[in-house]
Amino acid sequence: MQKKKKKAGKPTPPRPSTVRYICLGCEKQEEIPYQVVRDFDKQDITRDLSYPPQFRCESCGGIMHPHYYKGVHGFEYRISDVLEAKGPR
Ligand SMILES: [Zn+2]
Repeated sequence: MQKKKKKAGKPTPPRPSTVRYICLGCEKQEEIPYQVVRDFDKQDITRDLSYPPQFRCESCGGIMHPHYYKGVHGFEYRISDVLEAKGPR
């Protein structure tokens, strides 16, 4: 007799569980739980949506920007956007 194997559901696609934030001041990197960033993003609806949810660097007090993050409002944020905007001067 053949035993039918139960399929244990689909393999979960690799989903980032954290968002890497990089300090614009001292370049310190920190992994922030995706859920925390999302909650922050959802709560903070008064802000300019062209900016991602930002955190303060504990080391230098600078602004931390996500390396890559797609917001709940459909905006995508990349660290390269900020670095380009700053530009070499
Ligand atoms: Zn810093």
